[in-house]
Amino acid sequence: MDQYRVEPGSSVDLSALDPSGGDALTCGKREGKAALRSLNVELESLQELLYAQGKHKILIVLQAMDTGGKDGTIRSVFEGVNPQGVSVASFKKPTETELAHDYLWRVHPRTPGSGQIVIFNRSHYEDVLVVRVHDLVPAERWEKRYEHINNFEQLLVDEGTTILKFFLHISKDEQKERLEDRLATPEKHWKFATGDLAERERWDDYQAAYESVLTRTSTEAAPWYVVPADRKWYRNLVISQVIVDTLNGLNMAYPAAEDGLDDVVVV
Ligand code: ATP
Ligand code: MG
Repeated sequence: MDQYRVEPGSSVDLSALDPSGGDALTCGKREGKAALRSLNVELESLQELLYAQGKHKILIVLQAMDTGGKDGTIRSVFEGVNPQGVSVASFKKPTETELAHDYLWRVHPRTPGSGQIVIFNRSHYEDVLVVRVHDLVPAERWEKRYEHINNFEQLLVDEGTTILKFFLHISKDEQKERLEDRLATPEKHWKFATGDLAERERWDDYQAAYESVLTRTSTEAAPWYVVPADRKWYRNLVISQVIVDTLNGLNMAYPAAEDGLDDVVVV
């Protein structure tokens, strides 16, 4: 899965990365779905171990264009995982109180504690994405944020957090299909926001803003992965595999048992 990792210091051109996965697909759909099922089972036990050991903190950041599949990813990748110890923090339009503070103020309290996995559904990156595309603060302010963000994430890593960041890369055509599908399906109307159409008109501006994010904030401490996301099964597979590989790399172990357990009898 290293092919999807953004090498720190490299410059990202999203138009050169195929949202369908193209020739780089590592398997077919049937095989991919089967692999996802076994990764799911593996993730379940890794999460239990993480929780039992209570040492590591895991932060997973999901960013995407509208309809990019953040919600579906959370549903599929974490299916069956014990909800105790896993939570989702969604970052929407900031409230008045949030806006009265610096942009990381609302983010820090949502970061994972020991033994926890937290999934950010949108994140502090909105403060250099939507904020930049819509000129919500002057350029000289958001320009400084890439560095703040790298430092903030380094702080979290230095204090025991493992960070994985995924950009779900969909094509503009795929977004059109997904929006049309939402319009055509009454059960999906709740997901349709006409505001998404205005954002779609700014597609190129968003792609440019994402390229800056990926180029400037993929670090050794907190790498970005650009995940081909036009095919949902492949997107889920890539993300699951990266998470499972990363958790395996932590070489976790259950805490030592109390002394003398062998002699204990429950009466
Ligand atoms: P999503 O669009 O993530 O699937 P949703 O449709 O349920 O979720 P929305 O009401 O669209 O929720 O909330 C997300 C919106 O909040 C996005 O348009 C996003 O750009 C915006 N947002 C998030 N963070 C910020 C921020 N810091 N400043 C301005 N807007 C933000
Ligand atoms: Mg939305």
